[in-house]
Amino acid sequence: MKVTVLVPAAGSGTRMGKGAKKQFLLLDGRPVLAHTLSRFEDVPEVTEIIPVVPEDEMERCLEKCVECQGMKKVQRVVPGGAQRQDSVYNGLKAIHPGTEYVMVHDGVRPFVTRELIAALLSGLDGCDGAILAVPAKDTMKEVTKENFVKKTLDRAHCYMVQTPQVFRYEVLKAAFERAYAEGYYGTDEASLVERYGGKVRVVTGSYVNIKITTPEDMILAEALLRKQASESAARPGTF
Ligand code: C5P
Repeated sequence: MKVTVLVPAAGSGTRMGKGAKKQFLLLDGRPVLAHTLSRFEDVPEVTEIIPVVPEDEMERCLEKCVECQGMKKVQRVVPGGAQRQDSVYNGLKAIHPGTEYVMVHDGVRPFVTRELIAALLSGLDGCDGAILAVPAKDTMKEVTKENFVKKTLDRAHCYMVQTPQVFRYEVLKAAFERAYAEGYYGTDEASLVERYGGKVRVVTGSYVNIKITTPEDMILAEALLRKQASESAARPGTF
């Protein structure tokens, strides 16, 4: 199995405030994006990792997130687009056509583990794609545009979706091409594949696989990193 990993990291970080691009904030002295990229470096099925970054940050990304960190599977970076979907599409267009599978993972989710990636790849069996998601912990309501409750959803069937998400390359590429032909934008890759009839399996993710979005998430990320560092010191060979 050959997997190319696309890492969209071209956001402007408006929710982080102060113009900070969250993918380049330092976590234990290394950019968040460098932590994220390194999580895929030792996964045997992964043949290439392609970060998608803001056009004016391509050099900084190579210098600070790739070369200094000794990453061998990152050979190039691709410029991002206006929205996340555009950034992923730019990456998709840059992939070598021989690729069997494409995995997409947010550059600001540095806590994905080898075990989660392995579980996700196993979930591909008999499907077009597999995604990580965790059961909703809170009661879920569907609301109107005016913020009135429309209905209470059955929580047992609600999952909060994460990345990575993995798909057969040809299926994902075809879904993106159809979505662009129709002007459709989704909030994740699976929503495009589902829309055109693809079969996507949900694999249980982890509540630790957080997306760093707002300033509080950095506090949480620092605490999680300290916890993981102390655990891996106790168990060499893990991350
Ligand atoms: O904004 P959001 O939290 O959904 O971003 C998820 C990921 O998508 C982040 O890693 C962000 O940098 C990336 N992104 C992107 N291009 C954009 C917007 C977001 O690659 N135009």
